[in-house]
This record gives sequence, structure tokens and C-alpha cells, in this order.
Amino acid sequence: MRKFVYHFKEGSKEMKYLLGGKGANLAEMTNIGLPVPPGFTITTEACKDYNEHHQYLSDDIYAEMMTHLHILEEETGKKFGDETNPLLISVRSGAPFSMPGMMDTILNLGLNDQSVLGLIKATNDARSSYDCYRRFIQMFGDVVFQIPSYRFEQALTDLKERKNYTLDTELSAEDLKDLIATYKALYVSASGRDFPQDPFDQLRLSITAVFDSWENPRAVVYRRLHHIDNQLGTAVNIQSMVFGNTGDTSGTGIAFTRNPSTGENLFFGEYLLNAQGEDVVAGIRTPEPISHLEDTMPEVYKQLLDVAVLLELHYLDMQDIEFTIEKGELFVLQTRNGKRTAQAAINIAVDLVHEGKLTKEEAIMRIDTAQIDQLLHPSFDEASLRAATSLATGLPASPGAATGQIYFNAEDAVEAAERGEKVVLVRNETSPEDIEGMAKSVAILTAHGGMTSHAAVVARGMGKCCVAGCDAIAIDETKKVMQSATATLTEGDFLSLNGSTGSIYLGEIPLVETKIGGHFEELMRWVNEAKKLVVRVNADSPEDLEVGLHFGAEGVGLCRTEHMFFQEDRIPHVRQMIIAETKEERMVALAHLKEMQKEDFVGIFRAADGKPVNIRLLDPPLHEFLPKTDRDIEKLAREIGKPAEEIRQRVQDLAETNPMLGHRGCRLAITFPEIYIMQAEAIMESAIQIHDEGIAVYPEIMVPLVSSREEIAIIKNQLKEAIQTIFRKEQLVLPFDIGTMIEIPRACVTADEIAEEAQFFSFGTNDLTQLTFGFSRDDANKFLYAYQEQKILSTDPFQSIDQKGVGALVTTAVQRGRMTNPALKMGVCGEHGGDPASIQFFHRLGLQYVSCSPYRIPIARIAAAQASILEEREKVNV
Ligand code: PEP
Ligand code: MG
Repeated sequence: MRKFVYHFKEGSKEMKYLLGGKGANLAEMTNIGLPVPPGFTITTEACKDYNEHHQYLSDDIYAEMMTHLHILEEETGKKFGDETNPLLISVRSGAPFSMPGMMDTILNLGLNDQSVLGLIKATNDARSSYDCYRRFIQMFGDVVFQIPSYRFEQALTDLKERKNYTLDTELSAEDLKDLIATYKALYVSASGRDFPQDPFDQLRLSITAVFDSWENPRAVVYRRLHHIDNQLGTAVNIQSMVFGNTGDTSGTGIAFTRNPSTGENLFFGEYLLNAQGEDVVAGIRTPEPISHLEDTMPEVYKQLLDVAVLLELHYLDMQDIEFTIEKGELFVLQTRNGKRTAQAAINIAVDLVHEGKLTKEEAIMRIDTAQIDQLLHPSFDEASLRAATSLATGLPASPGAATGQIYFNAEDAVEAAERGEKVVLVRNETSPEDIEGMAKSVAILTAHGGMTSHAAVVARGMGKCCVAGCDAIAIDETKKVMQSATATLTEGDFLSLNGSTGSIYLGEIPLVETKIGGHFEELMRWVNEAKKLVVRVNADSPEDLEVGLHFGAEGVGLCRTEHMFFQEDRIPHVRQMIIAETKEERMVALAHLKEMQKEDFVGIFRAADGKPVNIRLLDPPLHEFLPKTDRDIEKLAREIGKPAEEIRQRVQDLAETNPMLGHRGCRLAITFPEIYIMQAEAIMESAIQIHDEGIAVYPEIMVPLVSSREEIAIIKNQLKEAIQTIFRKEQLVLPFDIGTMIEIPRACVTADEIAEEAQFFSFGTNDLTQLTFGFSRDDANKFLYAYQEQKILSTDPFQSIDQKGVGALVTTAVQRGRMTNPALKMGVCGEHGGDPASIQFFHRLGLQYVSCSPYRIPIARIAAAQASILEEREKVNV
């Protein structure tokens, strides 16, 4: 018979796919002898079985669960639903990958009108017993019947107001009893049924609700954002309760073995006395820093510190530990590899190597490339910052600076972001329902909550600036107003946040790029030792190239020459070239363009300092350059001295139904050879100038949109002839290559022929994806989401290469190309060159380089190193 339920002592940390991350770690901690309250895990397989049987929990699974519940009763000496000494349990979800706050938790399950009396007898504490019961009704109502938590919170607030209390802890046992009655009435009115008194009903409903929560919209969005497989399912952890809400020697908290913001090797965390479960992360009360625990309960603090050291050594990674103190006794409820900022991730990984706990390769494998983006976030312009008005300071929850317009709920934030605004989401505290709004915002500000609140944890994971717990501001989410001591802001007003210091400022502050600090340089040196792929940059200007070089680019993989003509003063000449009706007319425009191109090439070659520079000859989809409005046409007429009517007619003649498949790329050179010849001359004349300055130079001239050998053969001969003429005139020969982009399926299939004419192939995977799927690059977003939702595609093929289809064509091209030209240089310059999964694929194909935009360079370098380490590991394991 299949086993669906595991007691904690039957599991281990290796079983996370079956037991979920939380279950696997609870099992591991139990087995290494840590004080974990006993319990068991219903597996992710049970969740799949439940879903396969149309949301039905099978009798076999239920019976197996009951067996484990009886064992738990024996272990704890308590009885489920008992009227004298009841066993209370928590029911918590736990997926194979951590999804903080995305899934549901129910605490204190097993309480009813009778067993609460039993709890009072057993604990001799009526106040905390009733507190547990009212919390249970609230969580159960929320998770199982979707009764919004705020309705219960409102009842609690009303009672406190009536009684003139400020703190929850001021509520007496009698108050809480009244509150329970109010909660039960609320429960009936919202769900249409009585609160279930039978603990076995409570348990079954809770288990199925956790299974159902796997499919709730916020979990679905979280999985989509983090590329987590929808099929994995969640486990359910059932654990005997310990109570942090039994007075001032009890409490609950979260500790990190190192600082999750900076990576500093210092014990870090927060706790609340006389509190339970979610209180710390929910951000309703502002917690105390963990160092205070050393003053108030030195023994417990020392024990916690020992647990932390042991767990970090056991997992060889920074741990995020959830604990509860019940009347001075410590319990560990969870440990997991802690979420951290990118800067902390790097510092921790490198420190662990220095401490002799990891190898360099292991440290590189620890880096989450998706997170590195964070490091490249901007900061405020110093001078503007000095002039800015500071409004308040909260907790520096997630680093980086951001500036944008404020919105007070996730929905409004999403709408504003879709209008193209930069949005700062302002909330009292965030909850998992806000996930989409958070993802669409540039920054998040909360008035409540600590460094481990939902807002802080999620923002750090997203690499998003966040200031949390800024209690110097008052937020009215309904009226959409935010108030500080000196200012009142309403929806749409500008606000600036510094997530590294916690400061918030009035208005918009310009941003500047930041420098990466800490151990980054050291890590990147290891990365260079490990990787085989060369990483180049896509750069159209010396400035882009400088940024790329700063991040470690080893050459230019793509310089799109048409991008050099987007400036105001250049566009008329391009337009003149396009609409020219005679060669003479075109030559006039080309002469201007040549001078401009030379200026750019000289700058790029100088900055490249001998590194290869791949320059792609013009590939303008014509519609992007033609004048569109009457005003534009009249302006061009004045600029080039032609009648507007003639231009209008010419624009009409040139109009294409499908410009992306039109007269672009090398097709332009087949009809007007003088365009590419001008460019080749500009490239070589600039190269000679740089050579004369004593700087090495290595141009690669790339012909785009090639689909046949004949195209490249004709164009190559024309270019070579023009270049030889220059060399003869200058009495000088410089090295250079001529090659092609491979971005048309036919080019892949006939790559053996094309390779005979080309010195290199550069895969233009953007167009190759467009043309292989027949998905327009510009319009596919309108339906790709549905393809992902219906699992036709697992990712957007324009972001991550479709290995089966587009990848197969690239493989064919590589094989065929090598067949006829073993010296062929091959690389990738489409967007996929900066995507880690695609980089792994290209590494395995044995390409020489990938090229990507400047800010992706560190990510591409790390991904390249990871690909090569993975391959080495596989060789060892074979
Ligand atoms: C490509 O098609 O992959 C490419 C790099 O060229 P572009 O994006 O300019 O079409
Ligand atoms: Mg292209």
C-alpha cells in the first residue's frame, strides 16, 4: 500500500518533494534531537491524489492520518477533543519550495466549547486558553470559509475601543469569552452554518482547505512569478501545539543565523512576548530585536543561539528559524534556508568559503541568478537627496532606492502600473492577496510590521525596495490618504523610498546607478575561473559598452547600427536614405550617415580596447523609420528640400503589410548594395584610426537576416572589395571577420552551405523564435499568457529559449555549420543570451559566447559558471 503519512521521525531533509520543505526540515530537526513539538506530515502525493479525485480526501489517507494522530496522542499524553487535557494541533501547508505567506496555516485546532474548558484546567490559564480559541475561530473561518480576517480584527478593535484598551494583552479572560461569542455569531452570519464543534470535522475541513490553498489565486501568481511547477502540490504538517501566548515568559519569534539584508555573520531576528504564531510576521504588533531576549531570558537566548549554530552547520547555509517559548521552554517550529537580499547571498556564500564550509564551486551554485538583478538597482542622486524633504523613517526592509506615485491597494497599483506609471504601494501591512500589486510596484511602504513581516520577506525575494513598519505615518486605505507629521499625500502623489536606510521622502528624486560592494568581486573572480562561455555585451554606444565592461563583458556581441540613428539630428538622414528614388540621392544621405557612424565606431573601438566588436549592418524594419504623421512629413520636406506631396507618395509606395517580414536586413543590401558598403567603409576607416592611436582593434562585420548561401556570398564579396580598396589606399591590413546572423529557420537548415561563406554565426534568437513559432515579437504578449495558463508553454519563449523547437534548429545549425567550417565561431546575441536556463543550453551546445544587455552581464557570467560546474558534476556522477 502507498504510504501517504510520515511521522516526523520517519522523514529527512532529503525528502522535500514528498514532505514539502517544512515537513522535511521538521523531520530532520526531530532526528538531530532538537526540541521540535511532535507531529506528522501528509505528503504532497496525498495532495495530488486529492486533486486527481476531484477534491476528495480518500478514506485510506484519512485512516492512515488517524493512525498517526493516535500515535501523537500517545507521544503527548493528551487526547484530541478531550474535555480535561485536550491535544491541540497546528495544520500548516508546506510545499517543496518555500512560498512565504502564500499558503494557509491553522493553529489551536481541536478547541471547542468543551475542550477549551479542558485546556483551562490543564494550563490553569483561562485567559490564554480563550485567546487560543478566538484565534482558532478566526483562522479557521478565514482559511476554510474565506471569511476575511479583517472582519474578526474589526470585532477585536471594537471591543478594545469599548473597553478603552490599547493592547491585545489588556483583554481579560471574560473579554475574550465575549469576543468568542461575537466571533461565532460572525462565523454563522458569514458562512451560514455553526462553527464546527467536532474536532474531527475541524481537522478534515482544515486538511482539505490546505490542499485547496495550493490552487488559490495568490499561490498561483506566486508560482508563476517564481517559476515553480504547478504539479508539485503541497504537504500538510500536523503538529502538536506549543503556546507562546501564556504570559510574559512565553513568546514567539523568528531568528536568522546571519543578517538577511547584509549577510553579516551576526545573529539576527525578532520576537514578541505573550504572542502566538503569525503575530510576528503579520505585523500587527511591532516586535523586539532578538538581542533583547538576551537581557530578559538569557538561558533561552543561549539555547536558541546554540540551536542556530547547530542548524547552520548542519545545513551549511544561513537559516531562518521559527521558534516559540512556552513558559520559559524553547521549541523550534521550523527551519529553512533563509531568504536574503542578493548582496547578502553573495556575502554569505563567500564567507562560507572563507570559513571552510563550502567550496568555491558550491558557493557559485548557491547564487540565485534571478536575484542578482537586485544588486544592479539604482540609488538616489546625492545632490537631489540633500535637497529633498524627509517625511519619516521606517525599517530598511529591502534595499535599493525607488521613486513613484502612491496607491493604496493592490488593484489600483496594478492598474496604474499598466498605465505606465511607476507605483509605490502604500499599505498598513501587506498580505498575500497583495502579491500582484507588489510585483507591479517599484517599491512598497507599510506602516506596520517588522523586518520579517510579509511585506519585507516578499519584497526581498522580489528584489524590490521596501520600507516597513513606518509607524510615524498614518494610512487610511479607504480614504486613500497618507499622513506624516508634516505632510498629507493622496493617491497619485510622488513619494521616494530608500529601502537600505528606511527613509521616505516627499516627491520624486532622480536615481543613479549603484556600485556593487562586499564580496562581489571575489565571487566574480571564481566565476571567471569556472565558466567556459565568453560573455559579451549588446551595446550600441560607447556608454553602453562602458557599463558592460564594468560588469565584466569580454567584447561586443551585437552593435545594432540602426539604433545609432534614433537621435533627432540623425533621423532625417536615415529617412532621406530610405525614401531616395535614385542612387545619387541615396549617396548624399549615406555620406552624412557615414560620418556619424564613424564617430560612433571610433568611440566603441576605443572603449573595447582590442576586444572583438561585432557590428551588425543595418536591419531597420522600415516602418520604424518612416515619417508617419503629416507634421513629420512636412518637417522632413523642409529638412531635405523636397515637396511634401512627393514624400507622402513615396511613403505610401514603401508601406509594407508586414514590415517584420519585409524589405529589411540583408534584403536591403541586395537591392541597395551601397548601404552596407558605406557601413563597411565606416567600420574599417574607424578601425584604422584607432589602430593609428596605438589601440588594438578587432571588428566582426555581421550580415543580418540571411536565409541562403547566395545572399551572404554576394554581400560578402561586395564588402571585401570595399575593404580591400581601403587597405590598399592606407597600405595597411587589419584583422576582421565577416559572418552572419542566424535568425531565420531556413538559415539553420542550410547552415552547412552558409558556413562556407561565413567566419562566424551569431544566433539571433529573437527573430528565430518569432519565425519558428510564427509568433509576432510585438504582439505575442496578447496571447502568450493564455498559452502559459493552459500549459501549452511553460515559459515565454521570447525570454527563455524553447529548447524543443527553436533549440533544435540552433542545434541543427551548429552541427551543420561545424561540418563544413570547423573554425566557425558561434555565439548568441538574442535576448536569450542573458537568460540563465538558455545559457545552460548554449553551454551544452558548445557555443563560444553569449551576448546580452549591459545589466544582465553579471547574471550571464554566473549562469555560465553554473552551467559548466553542473556539467562537470554530471561527468563525475556518470
Ligand atoms: C535577434 O533577432 O535575435 C536579434 C538579436 O536581432 P534584433 O533583436 O535586432 O532583431
Ligand atoms: Mg533579428
